[in-house]
Amino acid sequence: MINVLFSTADSDWGDYHDPLIAAFDKAGLDVALSRDHTPEETDYIVFTPKGPVEDFTLYTRCKAVLGLWAGVETIVTNETLTQPLARMVDDGLTRGMVEWVVGHTMRHHLNLDSHVLATDPEWDPVKPPLAKDRTVTILGLGALGAACGQALARLGFPVTGWSRNAKEVAGLTCRHGEDGLLAALAGAQIVVLLLPLTPQTEDIINARTLALLPEGAVILNPGRGALIDDEALLEALDSGQIGHATLDVFREEPLPADNPYWHDPKVTVTPHIASTTRPETAAEVIAENIRRGEAGERFLHLVDRSAGY
Ligand code: NDP
Repeated sequence: MINVLFSTADSDWGDYHDPLIAAFDKAGLDVALSRDHTPEETDYIVFTPKGPVEDFTLYTRCKAVLGLWAGVETIVTNETLTQPLARMVDDGLTRGMVEWVVGHTMRHHLNLDSHVLATDPEWDPVKPPLAKDRTVTILGLGALGAACGQALARLGFPVTGWSRNAKEVAGLTCRHGEDGLLAALAGAQIVVLLLPLTPQTEDIINARTLALLPEGAVILNPGRGALIDDEALLEALDSGQIGHATLDVFREEPLPADNPYWHDPKVTVTPHIASTTRPETAAEVIAENIRRGEAGERFLHLVDRSAGY
């Protein structure tokens, strides 16, 4: 019997219990899934920072902590966590992010607001450009950034992606490192942030990098709020250097009612809904990692603690 401790928000239990049991059965794993296993009897922890486990010291027989979230910035610095940590890469999560990014890119590309929100009887037949004439840059070429970039490239957008290490992603122009960032931002009309939050990526969108963009560029941020220096963005929106920002994530969530983003007509706020882990597909990833742990194989989607993601 494999003891799996479910340590996430109480509200997740109802969503995840049946899909996890089904995925364990399908993988042929004999699992006791519980929210109450003691540290001494726990073999794996299914984890989000919303659950009760904060100190991992007593979980001496735990073979891995299996996160349900893609972002790990709140757990990666936990010094009590010495067990392998896997983050979530989930087909449902990726699909959701692709849909959000494509939807918001198309909104700005086609200037959909001008007709959707129009109230005056004004016949102004400005023809929308084609995707091939709209440059898009994605910062972050991981599970989500690469999938979003490829979806946009399939629609005809010239897409440049930026990562830490040199990469090749079919259909995209790939850049990396500091010089690569300058090249990726120069000329980018729409910039999508899909970086993890680390000490190296915090405030990566700041006065200096915003100035590299062509005037009127659009920022989409479904990554993490602290990737953006908020003051610099608000100034760039004011000056017209940035035409619009669509923001899904913020330094403080929920975004406080008096935050200027709520009231800036050039900002669209979405309440951290760009995507979410889907229990049916994510349960299979958890089961596969437990199967691997039991077989002595390498876990999928391990977090590199020193890199912070
Ligand atoms: P991955 O870890 O798969 O990818 C991260 C990418 O960022 C990699 O390409 C990595 O480069 C790159 N990167 C990291 N640090 C740097 C750096 N210093 N310089 C340049 N590139 C860097 O993450 P995911 O794609 O799965 O997720 C990305 C983020 O999306 C998550 O961390 C999370 O914050 C956010 N997210 C938001 C959601 C929402 O609903 N708003 C939902 C899910 C996730 P390399 O390839 O070289 O390693």
